[in-house]
Amino acid sequence: MNSSPTVPIPYRIIALVQERNRLFAYPLERLAGEIKATGFRCSCCGSCCSRAINRHIFLLNRDVADVKKIDPAAFEPAPDPEFCDQTGTFYVSGYALRIKNDKPGSCWFLENGRCRIYDQRFSVCRIYPHMLRRNSDNSGQVTWRQFARKNEHGQYHQDLPDDECLSLARESKEYENAFLTHQISFLETIHDYFSTHHLRHDQKMYDYQVQRVLQGRPVKVMVYHAGGLQEHRITKDASSWHDSCQSGVPDHR
Ligand code: SF4
Ligand code: SF4
Repeated sequence: MNSSPTVPIPYRIIALVQERNRLFAYPLERLAGEIKATGFRCSCCGSCCSRAINRHIFLLNRDVADVKKIDPAAFEPAPDPEFCDQTGTFYVSGYALRIKNDKPGSCWFLENGRCRIYDQRFSVCRIYPHMLRRNSDNSGQVTWRQFARKNEHGQYHQDLPDDECLSLARESKEYENAFLTHQISFLETIHDYFSTHHLRHDQKMYDYQVQRVLQGRPVKVMVYHAGGLQEHRITKDASSWHDSCQSGVPDHR
């Protein structure tokens, strides 16, 4: 699960707005050129559709609307809640695709190594492994990252048409913008909600509630969605929460 947010929420909002401004300033053609140079083609191994590779598959608001139409059982509160208040309620920024209880922790829609809703797959599934996000390396230096797990999967140096590269670049930038905008709205909502209800993040309570999750005891979680907070109870059936409490699993989409 996430470590405690030590930075005050208003500062976190400012940092995300600055991040979004940097994203806007990143030239589309440069990203398209980088996609062209990488020349990645998916080999349909299906491994990115499980917890073996991705901690969880986050859903934007529009994705939640889509998944509800396809299968209302296919999503759940995303693991790694950002906050826990002094009464023991968790707060998380959105929903994620449900994970099966199989060994690799497959996406709900993965069947025999293939996505069974491929033509309707969600925003991040369409762009992965392309991305445009800044990360700090081992030395602490912050650099742009345009690709997930380079040279660890798929095929490279394939001849991708220019219009496909441009389209992927556009979709990647659009996704990152939507994701950052979602996170900013979440923090603004939490800031208002905590102020109105005299709540605060409580790290001791957070850690205590994580132990309750591990013991299979129910906890309350408020999920940010479409401008508001929706109440859920996490029980022992929420495998992605249990796994996330127990281990640090690489990456999330
Ligand atoms: S919806 Fe399909 S493409 Fe997306 S993670 Fe699930 S199985 Fe993979
Ligand atoms: S994107 Fe990569 S990990 Fe995912 S199915 Fe394609 S080759 Fe496999």
